[in-house]
Amino acid sequence: MHYFSFHDNALHAEQVSLVEIAEQQGTPTFVYSANTIREHYKRLDDALAPIDHEVAYAVKANSNVAVLSLLNEMGASFDIVSGGELYRVVKAGGDPAKCTFAGVGKTREEIEYALELGIHAFNVESEAELNFINKVAGEMGKTAPVSIRVNPNVDAKTHKYISTGKSENKFGIDFDVIADVFERASKMEHVQLKGLQMHIGSQLTTVQPFRDAVTKVAPLAADLKEKYGIEFFSIGGGIGIIYDPALESGSPDWWDANHPEDMPLTTEKYASELIPILKPLGLKILLEPGRYIVGNAGVMITRCLYEKRGKAKTFKIVDAGMNDLIRPALYQGYHEIVPLTQGGPRSTVKTDVVGPVCETGDFFCQDRELPDFEEGELLALMSAGAYGAVMGSTYNSRPLPTEVLVDGDQATVIRKRQTMDDILAQEIF
Ligand SMILES: *Cc1c(COP(=O)(O)O)cnc(C)c1O
Repeated sequence: MHYFSFHDNALHAEQVSLVEIAEQQGTPTFVYSANTIREHYKRLDDALAPIDHEVAYAVKANSNVAVLSLLNEMGASFDIVSGGELYRVVKAGGDPAKCTFAGVGKTREEIEYALELGIHAFNVESEAELNFINKVAGEMGKTAPVSIRVNPNVDAKTHKYISTGKSENKFGIDFDVIADVFERASKMEHVQLKGLQMHIGSQLTTVQPFRDAVTKVAPLAADLKEKYGIEFFSIGGGIGIIYDPALESGSPDWWDANHPEDMPLTTEKYASELIPILKPLGLKILLEPGRYIVGNAGVMITRCLYEKRGKAKTFKIVDAGMNDLIRPALYQGYHEIVPLTQGGPRSTVKTDVVGPVCETGDFFCQDRELPDFEEGELLALMSAGAYGAVMGSTYNSRPLPTEVLVDGDQATVIRKRQTMDDILAQEIF
């Protein structure tokens, strides 16, 4: 569910018209709904209420400090993947002791910074990293809290670029050898074993891969608790969202209607399948949702610059590009495209919506039947709250867009549009 809907023929974020935001801030601009973020966090937190748990928001999905502050106020913990993300959490008023630090390539500087601030745990992704953390902690006269990431070798059935839980992925330590790694880690002087972690992939739309992974790994978690007294088991993030239909799925009616098989994945379904397997472990369960919390809580608004009717295709050229929102180019991500104003009935046309960037991959959709919007019209690319602005670049010397947070009838700029001088600030000439 989310709070983007039409009132008086204009698409709104909560009570604020996106047309007004576009007129005041220009385009492209990302707009987030604070109450959608809060509600998603709360739903997941409530669904897991029967067990001891923590919801650790995966900062990489949307790391704007205002978004982190909002989640910090809700009581979230944080899953971070760099020293930079830890810095952001601290700026948002977050407690380092509620941060777990994942990622396969942590540097000495990042490890030292995290140890100094006193994070909850490092999620260790290889034995080499384990040895290095032990060494750095020793040099600092500290003990590093660690959990180790297991790669359960299950198929997440998602796009291969966002699948992480198969043996051929770079993440975690193979299921077959993880017990030996824990054994060796338990003898290290400067690490303290705190937990077991896994994360099998992103945008999972059925509960089955989660159930398979948790069923496979739960006995290991029980064993590690008994042997080394680990305190938590993190089952990762990955809960998928509805990209299609994005707008319609904002309303509770859509969720109440019948859908094929076990689609869509709800927090209730997720919790009711997993809690019976997790509860007997008596461990604290950590969740690391990113996309689920913020994905449908954001849109990117853009203006149509030109229409070009070629021999083979109709192109609508908009003022946002792959540098602003790279998901379609990077992993065939789908974003519903909705004109911000709804007049009377209009015809549809098969269109490629493309950006101004000089790359063939710079498109938001290809051959999609869309309302025949015109030059100058404003559009929303739905479900752009996760892996949107955070992946932005200044390729083609395009300044990063504005970000706005809407809370009820208030719209606040939470990131100003970059200027060309911002882009050039570090260049020496
Ligand atoms: C990216 C990531 C997540 C979040 O994934 P979502 O699909 O956005 O929920 C959680 N845990 C780890 C370790 C990650 O790398």
